Amino acid sequence: MTQALELKAPLTGTVLPLEQVPDPVFAGRMMGDGLAIDPTSSTLLAPCDGVVTQIARTHHALTLTAANGAEILMHIGIDTVSLKGEGFKPLVAQGQTVTCGQALIEADFSFIAGKAPSLITVVVIANSDTQEMAERATGAVTAGQSILMRVRAKGAASAVADASATPSADTTAWAVVGHGDGVHARPAAMIQAAAKAFNARVFLRFSGQEANARSVVSLMGLGIGHGDRVEVLASGPEAGQALAAVVEALEAHSPSAHGEVEAPAVPAPAALGAGKVGGVLAAPGLAIGPVAQFAAAEPRVVELAGELGTEYNALARALATVRSAIMSQMHAALKHGDKAMQAIFDAHLALLDDPELVGAAERAIGQGKSAGVAFRDAARTQRQVLSAMNNPLLAERANDLKDLERRVLLAISGDADQKPVVPPRSILIADDLTPSDLAGMPADALAGVVLARGGATSHVAILVRARGIPALVATGAAVLQIENGLEVLLDATHGVLDITPAADSLQAARQQIDARRDTLEHMKRQALEPAHTLDGQAIEVAANIANERDAREAARCGADSVGLLRSEFLFIERESAPSRDEQQAAYQAVLDALEGRNAIMRTLDVGGDKEVPYLSLPQEDNPALGLRGIRSGFARPALLDDQLAAMLATRQASRLRILLPMVADVADLLRVKARLGELAAEMGITALPQLGVMIEVPSAALLADQLAEHADFLSIGTNDLTQYTLARDRCNPDLAAGLDPMHPALLRLIAQTAAGAAKHGRWVGVCGAMASDLEAAPVLIGLGVTELSVSPGLIPELKARVRALDLAMCRREAQSLLLLSSAAEVRARAREIWPQV
Ligand code: PEP
Ligand code: MG
Repeated sequence: MTQALELKAPLTGTVLPLEQVPDPVFAGRMMGDGLAIDPTSSTLLAPCDGVVTQIARTHHALTLTAANGAEILMHIGIDTVSLKGEGFKPLVAQGQTVTCGQALIEADFSFIAGKAPSLITVVVIANSDTQEMAERATGAVTAGQSILMRVRAKGAASAVADASATPSADTTAWAVVGHGDGVHARPAAMIQAAAKAFNARVFLRFSGQEANARSVVSLMGLGIGHGDRVEVLASGPEAGQALAAVVEALEAHSPSAHGEVEAPAVPAPAALGAGKVGGVLAAPGLAIGPVAQFAAAEPRVVELAGELGTEYNALARALATVRSAIMSQMHAALKHGDKAMQAIFDAHLALLDDPELVGAAERAIGQGKSAGVAFRDAARTQRQVLSAMNNPLLAERANDLKDLERRVLLAISGDADQKPVVPPRSILIADDLTPSDLAGMPADALAGVVLARGGATSHVAILVRARGIPALVATGAAVLQIENGLEVLLDATHGVLDITPAADSLQAARQQIDARRDTLEHMKRQALEPAHTLDGQAIEVAANIANERDAREAARCGADSVGLLRSEFLFIERESAPSRDEQQAAYQAVLDALEGRNAIMRTLDVGGDKEVPYLSLPQEDNPALGLRGIRSGFARPALLDDQLAAMLATRQASRLRILLPMVADVADLLRVKARLGELAAEMGITALPQLGVMIEVPSAALLADQLAEHADFLSIGTNDLTQYTLARDRCNPDLAAGLDPMHPALLRLIAQTAAGAAKHGRWVGVCGAMASDLEAAPVLIGLGVTELSVSPGLIPELKARVRALDLAMCRREAQSLLLLSSAAEVRARAREIWPQV
């Protein structure tokens, strides 16, 4: 065990535990563990020998780094940064070596007392992740004489915390923040990920405060804005790489949250009449509907703590449960091309991994709190910090923490979540909503949303805008008193909720709503007809679905067929695989819902990162390159047999087409084809369904002619084909910007697939997200694709797009795009050629 470092009291006064400090950052130990002193002397003394590694510009705080690497941060008074240096006189300079008892800062407490909320001075070990408190004083202490605490380097866990590796001793750099909204949740998550990738300790220093780069909440707590200069300090064996990665993450450009889904401008507050409530526009539009009030019940928290180990385990289990639930939500969002939802849950995941949040909860358990109380208090402390920041964007992120808090507390208690029950086409009124509340609501439940709190840049606002639901936020608590079921008029565009709408206002609004609905209906009616290009090429516009409900929606939206049924829906979130009969019933229900249309059903595409625990597939180092898609079917032949047999057994199986995921070459295809033949023979079936392969692996695209010789059709999965061709993990948000299927490499593989299929008279479709990209549609059609499979809601627009294209021109221009060298060039040129998008 290393020798403990003795720290003398820097001020005379009474020692207080950090919990009693009237500042949630210190009380929540976000800056580290330590003690506070209610002072009666006014000269801050060095508690040990060391180097002054930082003095706040406003001279109210100072960090001393001791020879063993401990960073002792002393912060005089609370909220004293706002005094801008008045009342403080530094007696040493940054970088100066000082000895124990040397005077560091002279504080004029008679002046400060009148200006600041408290004189309580905090002494914390800023690198508490590598240092631990061995002893703490209580009661009265005398400056320079009494021992305040003893600190020593943590043992085994602190490879990085070696005394030779202090932030000041190793390496530092400056970064200018490129993120449009400063360091809020997602940039903080990027920075955290960069820091965590290396065996190093990284701190950011900004405006006299420091934050551990591995803590999202601490990073956000710095309040760093766009264009701010931030100092980055790294120490440890991989300090250099960590420093470079964190600087890059800070300097990366990310657009303002307003740019993700265009946030409408907030209107000037109108002079509102009686019965009207004003608010901030979150998503434009008009809505009339009955009020549905929603208030989420507080999750149950067991106050009484059990054994220490039991409580630690309960917390760890709950965190793991929530993490895996968020991962599967992210996965579903990714699959449906719902980028807004995916980014939001990604930020939630980073918050869940936050060492300060989890560390604070674990410390509280160590002090005898139950897991529920510990996590609730830790999350609330950090929420308070974010809410108190003078930055609306960060304050709104407190809502994300609330979402997580709720999920973790429910996981600890084992209680089921209470989902909002909202009658269809209601105007939902709530104090605030979390992204999870909204994610759990059916698409047609909401005519509009009104929130007493919230903000236009909150994640909930991003989601309602993406879904086209009119919404007003920050209306004030009065809306929570509006009677359930009362018909109200929401004019979100003009920032008004009319609780007692006059008959003529209602009539005018109804006319506008009807006119808009008519336009949409007209588009939808048109969508019921097949789509042809101007020069007569039929393009099948199909739907990607997951279940029977989606199938009905697809038919309603004008899908010509189903281009991809992801059969995974039947297998996830259960304890064992569905039986053959169960599967047959589910496939039959989909076929029946399609009223005569064809459906392409894909065999189970799990394995890799798409986990189905009961299949017990092996853990893999490179899941994306492992036992996934059809390979997992080969690994579990009985499972594949059941699925093929269930499909063969459906009535009207001629409308069913079977699609194989992740086929690499013709051997994969022939193996399944042979088995399908055997099963059909056993079942006495002579008319086999068509069998197609997904082109998701570059080898399959390169060998498309061989595959087309034995397959009935080819369907390009551009999501995976892009990932494998560009070697960019589709689940890594940091790589998402470069994951563009309009890359010429992809276009060449698509052209080669179409040429291979044409050799044998087979058709080629696209069922990856590229099919939904209106900019890509002419390019795909020009390269020879004749089927596009997309989310049902996009069908009317895509059909309208197809009807405006000229096939001959698409063919000509698509060839020229193959010669370009980047996705950006392809997109720019495509916009010039087909400017109507
Ligand atoms: C694809 O990879 O493009 C595809 C449609 O399959 P999934 O997204 O389900 O992997
Ligand atoms: Mg795929």
